[in-house]
Amino acid sequence: MSTTVETIIIGGGLVGVWTAYFLAKRGRSVIVLEKESVGAQSSGVNFGNLRLQGRYPDQYPLSLRSQDLWERLPELIGDACEYDRTGHLYCAFNEAEAEKLAHYAKVSRANGIAIEDLDRSDLDKRFPYMGGKVIAATFSERDAVANPRLATPATSRAAQALGATIIENCRVTGIEARNRGFELRVDDGRTFSCTHLVNSAGAWAADIAARFGETVPAFAAGPPQFVTEPVPYFIGPSIQTIDGSVIARQIPRGNVILAGYPRTASDPVANRAPVPPHKTLAGMTALARVIPALAHASVIRVWSGIEAYLPDMIPIIGPSHAIPGLFHAFGFCGHGYQIGPGVGLCLSEWICDGHTPTPLAAFCIARFKSEVAVSEKFKAEFDSGGQSR
Ligand SMILES: Cc1cc2nc3c(=O)[nH]c(=O)nc-3n(C[C@H](O)[C@H](O)[C@H](O)COP(=O)(O)OP(=O)(O)OC[C@H]3O[C@@H](n4cnc5c(N)ncnc54)[C@H](O)[C@@H]3O)c2cc1C
Repeated sequence: MSTTVETIIIGGGLVGVWTAYFLAKRGRSVIVLEKESVGAQSSGVNFGNLRLQGRYPDQYPLSLRSQDLWERLPELIGDACEYDRTGHLYCAFNEAEAEKLAHYAKVSRANGIAIEDLDRSDLDKRFPYMGGKVIAATFSERDAVANPRLATPATSRAAQALGATIIENCRVTGIEARNRGFELRVDDGRTFSCTHLVNSAGAWAADIAARFGETVPAFAAGPPQFVTEPVPYFIGPSIQTIDGSVIARQIPRGNVILAGYPRTASDPVANRAPVPPHKTLAGMTALARVIPALAHASVIRVWSGIEAYLPDMIPIIGPSHAIPGLFHAFGFCGHGYQIGPGVGLCLSEWICDGHTPTPLAAFCIARFKSEVAVSEKFKAEFDSGGQSR
């Protein structure tokens, strides 16, 4: 016999569990179906950065709403998940990059974010470990980090405490749209039916959208990541170079976590995200350029993840344009951790109220009915077929 609930969510990543959390909070019946364990994919392996400065301009209302949720984690889910308001430094190596920084800062300020402009003498006073090649930086004090290993399981536990059902090791293998609803089949033969269906299946979500005729040019990739041996704690904020070569942070235990760029291709079918060795070497060289004291730190682990990217480097969030009751949230292009809680809140509002107060039109799936503009970031990192450079 089929299990019937109001909403089924495919994918127990951060987006899926926050959607379940907010639906359960409003007394709605909801099941999350996750093919592995919650947070097993991008949501659990990412860099953990909750960056506000330098975001895509149309994403600020969502991003700010989400940051507010991150700032209230203990109150909302009873666990801070190592949230730390470290701040975030964006660094420039030359005048052209400094101009780009100034532009990002202008957009961030227009959206209410406090940004400090730092010249070299400011850096010498406040962040003396920054390499001499860095000529300027901007600092956003509200930017933060949180431990990705902890956040999705903790939110899942909170959602369950509110009445949500989370089923792990349960892969959705069949979906049919029925009269005002959906019928789902999972790999152990069980069936489920629901009125609302949320497609938050990460790098596997585009295949689900395609079943309903909504094809999008998504592909899987991830930034190569490394962690060093622990060294004495000396770095406060997350540090990112605006040339896109590196983002790094140090956790209080001393290890330095690094994401190097360009990103690397991953394989959602084989479930693999290999990191070619030359990318680790390039990442460490880029790190030494910005923080010379780390030039000889030893890398003790290397990994990446399976994340969906789109050519305009912005996600798909919102109702399907093909089937009533279906909602998509995927293609986060490497920045879905920060907005994940906010996306869950907006999806719950769409399902319960028929709309969300957060403007999300820019993220509509229907934009792919026409040619979308390919972003500069995409051109720098991928060829037109989505292969990493
Ligand atoms: C290495 C790396 C570093 C990153 N760093 C950052 C960062 O610092 N800051 C930031 O904001 N973002 C970052 N991101 C991006 C961020 O991690 C993702 O955008 C975000 O976690 C996406 O969450 P999600 O819930 O949509 O997807 P996922 O976490 O991928 O969850 C989707 C889930 O769906 C499940 N699923 C798929 N198909 C099925 C099926 N048929 N049946 C059942 N379950 C299914 C999967 O198993 C998976 O658990 C990074 C990503 C990577 C890979």
